[in-house]
Amino acid sequence: MKVLKFGGTSVGTADRIRTVAEHIRKSGRNIVVLSAMSGTTNTLVEITDYLYKGNIPGAQETLNALEMKYSGVISALYDTEEAKARASMLIGENIGYVRALIQGEFAMAEEREILARGELMSTALMNEYFRECGVKSVLLPALDFMRTDSNGEPDMKYIATRLGRLMDLNPDADLYLTQGYICRNAFGDIDNLKRGGSDYTASIIGAVLNAEEIQIWTDIDGMHNNDPRYVEGTRPVGSLNFEEAAELAYFGAKILHPNCVLPAKLNNIPVRLLNTLQPEAPGTVIYNMPPDGSVKAVAAKDNITAIKVKSGRMLLAYGFLHKVFETFENHRTSIDMIATSEVGVTVTIDDDSRLAAIVDDLKHFGTVTVDRDMVIICVVGDLEWHNCGFESKAVAALADIPIRMISYGGSNYNISMLVHRDNKVQALQRLSEKLFG
Ligand code: ASP
Ligand code: MG
Repeated sequence: MKVLKFGGTSVGTADRIRTVAEHIRKSGRNIVVLSAMSGTTNTLVEITDYLYKGNIPGAQETLNALEMKYSGVISALYDTEEAKARASMLIGENIGYVRALIQGEFAMAEEREILARGELMSTALMNEYFRECGVKSVLLPALDFMRTDSNGEPDMKYIATRLGRLMDLNPDADLYLTQGYICRNAFGDIDNLKRGGSDYTASIIGAVLNAEEIQIWTDIDGMHNNDPRYVEGTRPVGSLNFEEAAELAYFGAKILHPNCVLPAKLNNIPVRLLNTLQPEAPGTVIYNMPPDGSVKAVAAKDNITAIKVKSGRMLLAYGFLHKVFETFENHRTSIDMIATSEVGVTVTIDDDSRLAAIVDDLKHFGTVTVDRDMVIICVVGDLEWHNCGFESKAVAALADIPIRMISYGGSNYNISMLVHRDNKVQALQRLSEKLFG
């Protein structure tokens, strides 16, 4: 059995739902995870935003517009009046649920209940569509099996047992359908796996079912070897190992949720990134691939701040780095890149909300300098240190670009270089020419 996850744009219109349904039907007896239709989660967030601000009419108007959108989809999607009536009833229940919440007390629990409606509606529409086509799809409610523990981590045992039981109750299903993103928390309340969390749902389900593979369907043909917004002629990367994929996901290759990699990796289940608009294209497969010594891709992470702490007393001293890192820990700010010398250390952060306080504290230990508007340019691949040449190529590609810092050796999978925002595009282009040209 495979897990097939379709993102918001893949189910974003009646036409797309039909195309995807056809594809799902042909692919056999699998379990299908759907996101909300594109734009829906953002609209639901907007509604909760109005409610936090106490603007009830704002929330109502936004909900009315959403309801209109869904009635448009319903008239376009189904042929029969019965299907239209059933779908209208299901969507109506969800919209009505939000409408009732708009009138009542509003806090975080209600916010999460509202945010859950997107996936509940997309799966209801798809399930009805299958029913109209005579396909026996069984809707497995994610709220009945997907659960996080008191640390906010997926409760794999619970999920495995409950999901297994639900599937056993429906042995004659042609296929199974469920919601991405939504879950219950340790208290049993409706919750979610954070924005973009449907990939994570797919990976968790793949892991507990020990699936043959996890397919993530979007509207791009796999993970590209550079950012197509800035570099011409980028190509999909054929295969990656899990570490390389995690580095790329973290450093801005937006196609896969970074969390998604872990359950698949731990259970050794291949993840395939595929394109709904071009279903024959091979896409990218992420698996425990043997080392091949190649550079796979380049990615960039924006809005980075570099902080340098220099201290004459660092020379031959111990405990200096500890104090520096502890400062960041005290301010709950995570560090991305590090470079050290005998007399100083530079670290980078992407969350600068506590910057002033951090700098203030660091001044106890040394002279502090801050560089803002920086970008981490990251080269990812099988960069094991015995393989010669990849570092020199990467650095040579940036020969006429000022590099603020370089980091390699933290893992075998990446070289990170920090440049100013103004040099980002040029750096990405030069790296593609040198590494893949
Ligand atoms: N619908 C949710 C979001 O937009 C989850 C997802 O699509 O992965 O963030
Ligand atoms: Mg997504």
